[in-house]
Amino acid sequence: MPTSPELCLDFETRQIHAGEMIDPGFGARVGPIYQTAGYLFSSFDDAEARFSGATAASVYSRSENPTNAAAGRRLADLEGGVAGIVVGSGQAAIAATLFALASSGDHILATENLYEGTKQLFLGSLTRQGLRVEFVPESASDADWAERVTPRTRALFTETIPNPKNQVVDLERLAAIAHRASVPLVVDSTVATPYLCRPIEWGADIVIHSTSKWLAGHGAVIGGAVIDGGRFDWAAHSDRFPQLTTSPRAGVSSFVDRFGTAAFLAYLRTVTVLEYGPTVPPTSTFLLLHGIETLSLRMERHVTNAQQVAEWLERHPLVAGVDYPGLPSNAFHERAKKYLPKGSGSVVSFDLAAGRPAARLFIDALRLISNMTHIGDVRTLALHTGSTIHGRLTEPERLAAGITPGLIRLSIGLESARDIIADLEQALGAVHRGTDAPGHA
Ligand SMILES: *Cc1c(COP(=O)(O)O)cnc(C)c1O
Repeated sequence: MPTSPELCLDFETRQIHAGEMIDPGFGARVGPIYQTAGYLFSSFDDAEARFSGATAASVYSRSENPTNAAAGRRLADLEGGVAGIVVGSGQAAIAATLFALASSGDHILATENLYEGTKQLFLGSLTRQGLRVEFVPESASDADWAERVTPRTRALFTETIPNPKNQVVDLERLAAIAHRASVPLVVDSTVATPYLCRPIEWGADIVIHSTSKWLAGHGAVIGGAVIDGGRFDWAAHSDRFPQLTTSPRAGVSSFVDRFGTAAFLAYLRTVTVLEYGPTVPPTSTFLLLHGIETLSLRMERHVTNAQQVAEWLERHPLVAGVDYPGLPSNAFHERAKKYLPKGSGSVVSFDLAAGRPAARLFIDALRLISNMTHIGDVRTLALHTGSTIHGRLTEPERLAAGITPGLIRLSIGLESARDIIADLEQALGAVHRGTDAPGHA
């Protein structure tokens, strides 16, 4: 029972009701987990009709499951898109999107500051399979961006708030650059969530999430999502996207003809996801839906805690710098005010002036805060990314990406800010005792 957008309900209401499904059997108020591989066909003719797509009922859970479909509808609603799908992980969402848009020999433009796993996917498997991914500094001039576009370019890929350094991107400008290049802007908006920023409102065409982070929000599931903004004019760029604009086989019209503005998502679901199979278990989606129901409340607390922690860290004598756009001193503060008026997310990174030895002392002294790789948990997490996520890079590569030897990434959770800060304070005390920290009296 999808909620009609005409009702213009508030975000807080839609996160609970949009796209919800009422169980037809028992009237269960909470959407059930449809833990089933397949679906009974009522007759010979019904089976044929469902396979042909003439009847829009589920056939097989690899690409169509009612629990997963409810989450896809809800996320599409919250992002202001026309259709959405949930898949097995954020990585799967990115890979599937690019497999749907591009073929071997095609070219993808991407901003330079991206989640490290995405960079590895782009430079690893996607490159090996024949895609050419070109990273461009976001600050490149319009002319520099335009020069990189080729007839084989198929997308411009970026992130709303790249972690760990939180260099908030200028979505409006990137959308204009993508559209001048005749390609969609694809935005991984994991760190912002639709509560803090909705990229489609700024011109993005496709939004991706790792739902493993704030959307599910409790550190218990892995999942991803793709949302179709429904605005990109595929038909006007038939040379670049023939998979959407030409007939797939005799007697069948194109995805654009059959699905209109939702053509991309229809292709992603019925071709890419069906063929590659990056399916998410409906049990995970059940937890995701529960997380989304409280998204606004959790994000409000995440960002107020993060702001307080960032302000506290900025004043600490052992801390050489804090990367949080909510701080007026931050280089991305003006952009954050424009794109993230409700708060700048809850990744707060900071640089220990005394470098790697200080980072080791700090991490090993933490008591409340968990030393682990993940973000968007209810728990506060800390990670020295230079020796973990960015451990494979060379030192010059790390420094070029701003990953200094003392950089610590925090994902601020929902504990009390006082308790989070107390743990940071005692761990920084251990750093002070263990190093001749510069700048400390
Ligand atoms: C975690 C993350 C991913 C990958 O998501 P998984 O669910 O871990 O596969 C992609 N992009 C961003 C920005 C992330 O934080």
